[in-house]
Amino acid sequence: MKQFQPEGIRNVVLLSHSGAGKTSLSEAMLFNTGAITRLGKVDAGSTTSDYDPDEIKRKISINLTLLPFEWQDTKINLIDTPGYSDFAGEVKAAIGVGEGAIIAVSAAAGIEVGTEQAWGYSQEANLTRLIFINKMDRENANFYRVVEELQSRFGVKCLPLQIPIGAHNDFTGIVDLLKMKGYVGPEAEEGEIPSSLKEQVSSFREKMIETIAEVDDTLIEKYLSGEELSPEELMKGLQQAVISGKIFPILTGSALQNIGITQLLDAVCSYLPSPKQREVVATDAKSVIEASPEAPLAALVFKTSADPYVGKLTYFRVFSGTIDSNSQVWNVNQNNTERIGQLFVPMGKTQEPVSKIGAGDIGAVAKLGITSTGNTMGSQGNPIKMAPASFPATVFSVAVHPKTKADLDKLGTALKRLTEEDPTLKVRRDADTGETILSGLGDTQLEVAAEKMLRKFGVGVDLKIPKVPYKETITQPARAEYKHKKQTGGHGQYGHVRLELEPLPRGGVNEFANKIVGGAIPRNYIPAVEKGVNEAEKEGVLAGYPVVDVRTTVYDGSFHPVDSSEICFKIAGAGALRKGLSDGQPILLEPIMNIKVTVPSDFTGDIIGDLNTKRARVQGMNPENGNNVIDAQVPLAEVLRYAIDLKSITQGKGTFSMEFGHYEEVPTNVSQKIIAEREAEKQAEKG
Ligand code: GDP
Repeated sequence: MKQFQPEGIRNVVLLSHSGAGKTSLSEAMLFNTGAITRLGKVDAGSTTSDYDPDEIKRKISINLTLLPFEWQDTKINLIDTPGYSDFAGEVKAAIGVGEGAIIAVSAAAGIEVGTEQAWGYSQEANLTRLIFINKMDRENANFYRVVEELQSRFGVKCLPLQIPIGAHNDFTGIVDLLKMKGYVGPEAEEGEIPSSLKEQVSSFREKMIETIAEVDDTLIEKYLSGEELSPEELMKGLQQAVISGKIFPILTGSALQNIGITQLLDAVCSYLPSPKQREVVATDAKSVIEASPEAPLAALVFKTSADPYVGKLTYFRVFSGTIDSNSQVWNVNQNNTERIGQLFVPMGKTQEPVSKIGAGDIGAVAKLGITSTGNTMGSQGNPIKMAPASFPATVFSVAVHPKTKADLDKLGTALKRLTEEDPTLKVRRDADTGETILSGLGDTQLEVAAEKMLRKFGVGVDLKIPKVPYKETITQPARAEYKHKKQTGGHGQYGHVRLELEPLPRGGVNEFANKIVGGAIPRNYIPAVEKGVNEAEKEGVLAGYPVVDVRTTVYDGSFHPVDSSEICFKIAGAGALRKGLSDGQPILLEPIMNIKVTVPSDFTGDIIGDLNTKRARVQGMNPENGNNVIDAQVPLAEVLRYAIDLKSITQGKGTFSMEFGHYEEVPTNVSQKIIAEREAEKQAEKG
């Protein structure tokens, strides 16, 4: 592939709800541009974009895929993205390196949750947008209904530039409202507009001209004075309006029948901006980045993929300057030199070696040492830092249990590689439960992660719902005494302590105090008593959970001049503490989370109803642009699968965030169950 100047490049993110046809659409575009010679099919697992075994198995896109091709002397870097919300991290990464987006909508299904999400993300990132109403050949396809939906949801500036000829089985082509011509079949044969469509066409064309004229002062004057606008004037007005986000063109067709695809490609070249036409500012917000191959290098790493054979593959977008094969660059984030080997232009699963990649373009390189996703590669003399994509916060967690000892040994490395590859995955070890916790955006993402661990790194794991880190405490002050005394032949053992236990306010810590007077226990044995108390506090008397919020005072005891030792006082301290806990009316404590649920207002009743079954306390409700934001406190034990519950209640339209609030007493009926389960667990471990 030859080198392109920034003016001749379009970086285009393909977005939609899952199943609207992104993968088929990319395949059709590649086919029409001659980049591939055979049209692959999603249902046959033969597309260029979804080549990963996980993707073929599930028939969904999981990774972003870079598909570069040439059309009309323009290089289009098409980035196919996953539509499934679990993989929103990939979408965010793709959006961070594009100027424009194609939002595909199914002509049968219309606007779906993923459409709204795609729209929201691209609006946030200020991407220039084209809308493609796909699947016109499908049963129930209705172009006009979907146009109305788009206009009522996203504004009347969603403007059809085409209308379809026929629908369902009879869908044969499109009418171009600017050129006033019909285009039929995969070869887009030019022809007259069918007479049955004349009225429809003239009304849509009139609306189109009016909308274009409205966004340009000179055009509107001419239009209102009744003068005809020339095709050139319309085209120019439209181009400016689209780039400045005032109009979102609507095109249509069928990816499967390969109809409307060449027009879509034309529209990408005509209406979506080149890297030169979009201002990008460095993170220090001082320097505007110059999209020129001669400027200092600034290349943002937006994806890292871990391959067990090739190793690490790093994808980057050059914003300014040029990066060369077999060179050195400066990693601006790590303040260090990085060696660059052979550069590639990735093409689905294959790669084409290139000597350099210039401003505005996207490439990849294998086996980098220090560079990770979000880093900028630049020059030491002129370090420019680019803003990395912001990834969504994790909402779902599982505990990762390796199947065998061998799996355990390889687990750490595999998890590290996975999180490198997917920045929306987070790993931590829960100090209370001892579990390794993997968090992400949904259950499918975590299941795919587990499959990947097995397939790529040979690590077998079971995913389980994480354990709740319960705690124990007392509710009444108590005094307890323990005497450790043994006479075994010669040298005996003797330690004797009296403790006072008092409940402390919730705070998660224990205190220890010494009030021994008159040397009832010699001072040098007190640390041993404290050690015994601390150790015993690790496992409470109810269900073996750690003890918190207890103040322990040693106030009396006795010793033996010969038989006493540190170990004896440690045993006595632990024994007395356990007795004191049993006498202090012990209870279980559970973590209470602060949760914020955002849903379209009509789901409010369902959400509150569901929260009520989860022992939640609703704290407040606030309307926020058509949504309702519900604040509540809810026990962690009830919301371990909330991401899944919320998705099913709201058909994916709800979001939530959650953070730890405080510990609270577990209600008696619930705590009896927990204690019984824990007992059964212990028996099972023993048996
Ligand atoms: P993605 O999830 O957005 O990538 O969508 P896919 O390209 O995987 O398509 C989902 C399903 O819709 C597949 O079964 C495709 O064969 C089918 N499909 C895609 N485009 C069209 C189309 O234009 N017409 C019809 N009838 N089916 C389509």
